[in-house]
Amino acid sequence: MIKKLYLVSPGPVPIPEDALVEAAKPIIHHRTEIFSDIFMEVAEGMKYIFQTKQDIFIFASSGTGAMEAAVANLLSPGDEVITINGGKFGERWGEIARAWGLNVHEIVLEWGEPYTGDQLYEELKAHPNVKAVFATLSETSSGSVYDIKSFAEATAKTDAVLVVDAISGLGATPCPMDEWGVDVIVAGSQKALMIPPGLAYIALSEKAWNLVENSKFPKYYFDLKAYKKSLGKKTTPYTPAISLIIQQKKTIDFIKKMGLETIFEHHRILADATRAAVQALGLELLSKIPGNIATAVKVPEGVDGIALVKTVQKKYGVYIAGGQSSYKGKIFRIAHLGYMSAFDIITAISAVEMALAEQGYKFDMGAGVKAAMEIFRREWK
Ligand SMILES: *Cc1c(COP(=O)(O)O)cnc(C)c1O
Repeated sequence: MIKKLYLVSPGPVPIPEDALVEAAKPIIHHRTEIFSDIFMEVAEGMKYIFQTKQDIFIFASSGTGAMEAAVANLLSPGDEVITINGGKFGERWGEIARAWGLNVHEIVLEWGEPYTGDQLYEELKAHPNVKAVFATLSETSSGSVYDIKSFAEATAKTDAVLVVDAISGLGATPCPMDEWGVDVIVAGSQKALMIPPGLAYIALSEKAWNLVENSKFPKYYFDLKAYKKSLGKKTTPYTPAISLIIQQKKTIDFIKKMGLETIFEHHRILADATRAAVQALGLELLSKIPGNIATAVKVPEGVDGIALVKTVQKKYGVYIAGGQSSYKGKIFRIAHLGYMSAFDIITAISAVEMALAEQGYKFDMGAGVKAAMEIFRREWK
């Protein structure tokens, strides 16, 4: 049979056609008025998605580059920080902070367990010298969403800044930077922002800029002061990823046209349908705080999780994601992120059902697809 490939992974994600074709066009030079205008439309347009009045800085890097930039620009050798590790990406904050020689208080959570602003405030009181708290909006590895608003309320009562990895969440689930008082948000292009990997974004509050002014870490490529100076000249200090910026302009237009609230609601409906579908198959969610970016599902007893994901991906061509780290083989993840529709979810669920049937898992074939269809039919707008 013809094997058509479907991307149902939490990054990279499918890309709208009008953004996709931009990458095939002849390249233009970046030190031109035409490019500067597009660049500024992206830098300004991104403020709408971050829900901030602050400047947005754009790096040619993957999302992790902006995470490292946050550490390098805010802190100084030996500073104390808190990292919240509820999965692969929260763990990454700790790895970066330790790589930079920081004094790290790492809060290690079971994957999918909640953590509250009150708990964070207690931790901050216990460590009054902490300069920054590093958290994750959407923990893609466990399919969780954290209560960033409550974290921001906790850090606001202290001198510490709140730095949020919103790489998979920004533009898919609410995180209004200014309204909630988040000090730093980092984002990446290949998730809800609906273009290929290669751009990272960062925005900082005034409280965070004060730390930048006093940071003693050495830095060069990710020196935010250089980006700030260049932004005043409608450009970046080094060659921007020209084609990606042009693609980003297209999807910002798309997101603006739909409206952020409608996009959030879209992700919520896809996530609800996915959750209903897997539960109708007798499967359980990993997370107690499931988000609308990716659904992490426990592999049932008697099913080989690695073989399951392999069948769905290699045999059927449907790129769902497996589990990471110690959850490899124990969970699989269906993303509902970026330029996806109801039918991407139905495709993913049907492929999972076929692969489950191949392993002799006992269930009512079609029950998952049916549950998803019922939600889509009811919620279709
Ligand atoms: C994808 C992702 C990252 C990593 O981004 P890269 O672009 O691979 O560097 C970090 N955090 C979260 C929550 C993610 O989903």
